[in-house]
Amino acid sequence: MPGGSLMLEGKHILLGICGSIAAYKAAVLTRLLIKSGANVRVIMTPSATGFVTPLTLSTLSHHPVVHELFSDTGWHNHVEYGLWADAYVIAPATANTMARMVSGQCENMVEAAWLSARCPVFVAPAMDLEMWRHPSTRRNCATLEKDGVRIIPVGSGELASGLNGAGRMAEPEDIVEFLDQSFRSDTSLSGKKILLTAGPTREPIDPVRFLSNPSSGKMGVALALAAAAAGAEVTLVSGPVPISLPQHSRIHIISVQTAQEMRDAAVSLWPHSDIGILCAAVSDWRPQYFAAEKLKKTGQSMTLNLERTPDIAQELGGMKKKEQILVGFALETENEIEHAKEKLKKKHFDMIVLNSLKDAGAGFETDTNKVTLIHASGRIDPRPLSTKKAVAQEILAALVGTHLKPEP
Ligand code: C5P
Repeated sequence: MPGGSLMLEGKHILLGICGSIAAYKAAVLTRLLIKSGANVRVIMTPSATGFVTPLTLSTLSHHPVVHELFSDTGWHNHVEYGLWADAYVIAPATANTMARMVSGQCENMVEAAWLSARCPVFVAPAMDLEMWRHPSTRRNCATLEKDGVRIIPVGSGELASGLNGAGRMAEPEDIVEFLDQSFRSDTSLSGKKILLTAGPTREPIDPVRFLSNPSSGKMGVALALAAAAAGAEVTLVSGPVPISLPQHSRIHIISVQTAQEMRDAAVSLWPHSDIGILCAAVSDWRPQYFAAEKLKKTGQSMTLNLERTPDIAQELGGMKKKEQILVGFALETENEIEHAKEKLKKKHFDMIVLNSLKDAGAGFETDTNKVTLIHASGRIDPRPLSTKKAVAQEILAALVGTHLKPEP
């Protein structure tokens, strides 16, 4: 849950609930949205009322809940709901409702509001593993996204069916955060293609040993998620990281091991990207020779001859076209600003994100980071210690605000 989710304050959130066991979580979601200061109206499909009562939701949302297009007292104006909302969130969204949304069918309030909504629409799917990965659901997700719907990534784990896998509705906290982020990204990255490098690389010495570093990939993943939430199409070229990589329809993952593999992927993607953000901790050196068999520990010492790995940033900087934006990272231990500025110039970055190992809570493996943003214009912007998620949002906001021209 974002700290004091101010972006949701005063926002009109229309919550559509479908008939899935995950509907019980919609009660918690309503509560969290209200606590964030949002104004919430709930509509339900008839089958959703079998899982959670309208009374529960009207009590939590402080508004009557509508679950029929018509009642004894008259017709419920779905157009009014659609126009009232700043965001329409369907959570849980069943495979059935998603399929019906694709074809514009309109038999209940949730579907009718979808057709009349003029606001951003979000769906938080909830279904069984097999249903989630079924080609028709894949197709429906892709079509809904093409129609501008934002799919809130499903979770993985034990499902109501007893199966284990993807398909679980995102937790209410994550849905609130997703919405919060989408309101936050007022300057959208929609339509932008972003190339991101993240994590360490591994440079093999022999079949069982390698040179590497403790980069966790957390900053890269936070950037990928924040950029995708702002509408960007992200390709995350990631070295071997200990964390799980995000499952998101706008984040494409390419897993690599060595600096050479990361370079090959990045160089082929760069000409088709608008923005490159290079936060990988690429090994600067690799063994000159790879020993095909495990090296024996003979003698008291051994010498490993190293050679330089390709400098991906430098190569991309050299290929950079006028309209492309390249952002690098620098981890420095002394003369930090000076060294970061030199790097910015040498590698043709538009902005460099300086992490200092001297700052507590900053750098490798932590969940927080303290960075200074240095722009090619010379502007230096030190940021306070924050979560990597918040830092990612700040980096993107700085990049959009300073380097991206607004659409005419
Ligand atoms: O020169 P240095 O390694 O400190 O530069 C850091 C920046 O360059 C980071 O953005 C990092 O991802 C990138 N880099 C790279 N390829 C390398 C070394 C660093 O892309 N071989």
